[in-house]
Amino acid sequence: MSARLMERPAAPEVDWSAVAQDLHGLNVIVSPGQRKQLSKDFYWYSPILTERLAGCVADLVVKVSTEDDVRQAAAVAAKWKLPITVRAGGTGNYGQCVPLEGGLVLDVTQMSRVLEIADGRVRVQAGARMHDIELAVAETGQALRMWPSTWHVASIGGFIAGGFGGIGSIRHGILRDTGNLLRARVMTVEREPRIIELQGDEIQQVHHAYGTNGVITEVEVALSPAVEWVHCIALFDTYRGVLDFGVAASTPSLELFLLSAVDARFSPYYAMLGSHFPRDKHAMFAMVAPDSMDRFRALVAAHGGSISLAGTEAQLHAAGLPPAYECAYNHTTLQALKVDRTWTYLQVAYAQPFDPAVVDRHIAIFGDDVLQHHEFARAGGEYGTFAILLVRWKGEAHQYEVMREIESQGGCQIFNPHVVTIEDGGMKTIDTQQIEFKKRSDPMGLMNPGKTRGWKPEMARST
Ligand SMILES: Cc1cc2nc3c(=O)[nH]c(=O)nc-3n(C[C@H](O)[C@H](O)[C@H](O)COP(=O)(O)OP(=O)(O)OC[C@H]3O[C@@H](n4cnc5c(N)ncnc54)[C@H](O)[C@@H]3O)c2cc1C
Repeated sequence: MSARLMERPAAPEVDWSAVAQDLHGLNVIVSPGQRKQLSKDFYWYSPILTERLAGCVADLVVKVSTEDDVRQAAAVAAKWKLPITVRAGGTGNYGQCVPLEGGLVLDVTQMSRVLEIADGRVRVQAGARMHDIELAVAETGQALRMWPSTWHVASIGGFIAGGFGGIGSIRHGILRDTGNLLRARVMTVEREPRIIELQGDEIQQVHHAYGTNGVITEVEVALSPAVEWVHCIALFDTYRGVLDFGVAASTPSLELFLLSAVDARFSPYYAMLGSHFPRDKHAMFAMVAPDSMDRFRALVAAHGGSISLAGTEAQLHAAGLPPAYECAYNHTTLQALKVDRTWTYLQVAYAQPFDPAVVDRHIAIFGDDVLQHHEFARAGGEYGTFAILLVRWKGEAHQYEVMREIESQGGCQIFNPHVVTIEDGGMKTIDTQQIEFKKRSDPMGLMNPGKTRGWKPEMARST
């Protein structure tokens, strides 16, 4: 299971100096230190992946700035039959942009232009950072519908190819939900690369495909009117109290952008919050529309809670406090790992409607080996809950024991962050639509090899 993947020796038939010549005019990185750095992402949250992926390094990194650059690099990959792995912010968690078989890493971070802002939509190059896009659209009074808590570094293309949803999902659903993704331009990897244009739900073919089936060069996503969110912390005596509040607050009558329940035992990792998140209280981090604040306060009080902090992001920043979104989603794990590297994490999807009693059972079984953290979000129009749990690292066998126990009852499903394939992680089944698209967009099977179990070597065309 955890056999380390050794650094792939350069295939003897590849003439790397000839490859470099074919890449002439592009920004090619050959230095071992930089290649190593640009072959990693946030897989280090998982001790299993840390060991397994240690030796995976690109033979060359190509930094592209234009669609023509992508075309040239894709053609070179096809000519020399080189693995090619797209990389943007490198904030994915599962080794998504780690080149398991070496080859080319295509760094798209310089494709970062905002191309067009219109009413309700923005068109950008795929390497644009999500926070930069937000700043650009803010000038028109609009805002992105959702983003990961890593948005200062993460790109929009990486979010679509590797993510699922995030801050904003309680209001607008997940990326997959109709209306959020509008258009995408995708470059194929073949001797004469082509552009395929995808619209609306057709984008599902490349969404969460880990860049295994085409290079996304441009995307258009939906925007909503900007809101000056109030970042709040509401405190409760019991974790069950926070969850019951979360279920009650999951209603269209409250306008929220984030609702994230965090166990009191995280408090030492949030020292910067001081008395706003004391050790004996469980916290709900929320982003609330100003118009909904009165109803939010009343609901907190009705559930026996109290609000310890409420302010705009600018006010929190001025006070030296983090925004609510940096206390939520996978930033919870990051905050803990900054202090104590003996933690790792697991993601859990619950049967819906969510029954908090399932969590009571897990708290009783796992004790201090598992710290609780739940996100409230919408998918397919329905409110739901999922967890990103902090799990004490006691070895691989213990980690899988925890997973088996969680999956044994209550309809819980683990999204395993200790594996590299799309299917073993979250998706569980092979998305045949994505594999069919890969036959068109990556007919030689060169893109991010080893990340989908749906692609079989015999599917690959030789030229
Ligand atoms: C602290 C923390 C919090 C996070 N919170 C969230 C969250 O709330 N929601 C969420 O969904 N994720 C979250 N993530 C995961 C990750 O940050 C996001 O999915 C992010 O959007 C990835 O963007 P990136 O630019 O860093 O992509 P990368 O890590 O560079 O790439 C991700 C995947 O997309 C592919 N890819 C990148 N660009 C392209 C392209 N142009 N064309 C084709 N394929 C491409 C890569 O090959 C790779 O497989 C979190 C991660 C961390 C460490």
